[in-house]
Amino acid sequence: MIAKKAMGLPLKGLRFAIKSGDSILDNATTQVGRFKTWFDNNKAKAALDEQPTAKRNYTKTAKQNDVTTSNQTLDLQELEFKKAPINWIPATILVATPIAAAVITPWYLFTHQVSAPVWGVFGAFMVWTGISITAGYHRLLSHRAYKAHPVVKNFLLLGSTLAVQGSAFDWVSGHRTHHRHVDDRIEDPYSAKRGFWFSHIGWMLRNYPSGKFDYKNIPDLTKDKVLQIQHKYYGLWVLAANVGLVAAVGWLVGDVWGTLVLAGLLRLVLTHHFTFFINSLCHMFGSRPYTDTNTARDNFFLALFTWGEGYHNYHHFFQYDYRNGVKWWQYDPTKWLIAGLSKVGLTTELRTVDDTTIKHAEVQMQFKQAQQQIDTVSASGLDIPHVMQSFQDRIKFEYDAFTQTVEEWQALKAKAVEMKKTEFADRLHEVDDKLKLEYAKIEQKIHAHNDNLKIAFRSIGYKDKAA
Ligand SMILES: [Zn+2]
Ligand SMILES: [Zn+2]
Repeated sequence: MIAKKAMGLPLKGLRFAIKSGDSILDNATTQVGRFKTWFDNNKAKAALDEQPTAKRNYTKTAKQNDVTTSNQTLDLQELEFKKAPINWIPATILVATPIAAAVITPWYLFTHQVSAPVWGVFGAFMVWTGISITAGYHRLLSHRAYKAHPVVKNFLLLGSTLAVQGSAFDWVSGHRTHHRHVDDRIEDPYSAKRGFWFSHIGWMLRNYPSGKFDYKNIPDLTKDKVLQIQHKYYGLWVLAANVGLVAAVGWLVGDVWGTLVLAGLLRLVLTHHFTFFINSLCHMFGSRPYTDTNTARDNFFLALFTWGEGYHNYHHFFQYDYRNGVKWWQYDPTKWLIAGLSKVGLTTELRTVDDTTIKHAEVQMQFKQAQQQIDTVSASGLDIPHVMQSFQDRIKFEYDAFTQTVEEWQALKAKAVEMKKTEFADRLHEVDDKLKLEYAKIEQKIHAHNDNLKIAFRSIGYKDKAA
């Protein structure tokens, strides 16, 4: 008991410190603002405007009345979800295509010879469709993480149309809402809080209130002529791509039906579910190295199926970065494609978050995890083992030092802004060189905090933390 009390006192300080750290982190994250596009400037306004009418009304009611009314409001909203009508066209496609693929593909392979070129077309269409969603609809259109030459943009747009996941307007509007209201049971169109089935596919089968988009959060897309055409004639485009184009390629390789079955049907179903994994499994299984304020996870195995989008925890924290697997060794073919195309000038203005900001977020999370370890032991009611007490002391010491580093970093950022304002243009490069050195020192210090945390975690047998 005494040991528990002794453990409790400094913890309070650390908890407070970690909370203060959160606000520092918020400030640091705000600095990432320079990576954001002009779209971001409209974000606050759009956030106010884009709430579905139902939500706006409910919010108003809840404010005016007491807790009972707010509970009733919640019940009403849940009722609206329960009685949501079937979304017939997507529901038919999403139910019929997997059944058809499960029956037709094995039968076809059993009864027909499929040539290598047909398998080649199947592979090429898998890559084209999958990576068009990740590099096109997702990183280019939803997050404006880079700029693409019209040839690249249209190639990715055609691939995204092959994916049959809705028009760019629908996809991007829903995805931006997902980021803004992640995990909200009412607002997030594919909220993981409603379980695997809903976040994977269920959200498309019915007309849920969270799935009604008014496009107010995509002002940058609605004025794009090509996207307008894709949206207006979406059904025709889907048929032309998935039947017309696939059959034409099949004719070129001498097997129309084989190509339609494999590069058409089977490819469609597989790419559907690989993409859906991002909304379901990537919000369920994996690690949370950057933030635990939402359910998004980093998962290498899911990155294999999702063209690199398995690093979803990073993505939810730094959504404007063109990379999802931010470490050089992380499997992210979408990142490699975008970076590769930039070498030949087909993609430009690739947005990245600087290494210090990323490392800072990681270290911040490690402190949180350390605190959770301490809390767990302290809540057990047993005497605190000696090793745990010294772990706690180390963490407390390290956190004080880390807080100081972050303060130095903030001061340096303020100084940088001031110096650039007052310095003559022809001496700006000298200022940059000087600042670069100072930033490098801060980065080294944050890495040193990371190393010290690793040692502290190892001392209590948690080798996987603070990696
Ligand atoms: Zn997500
Ligand atoms: Zn995203």
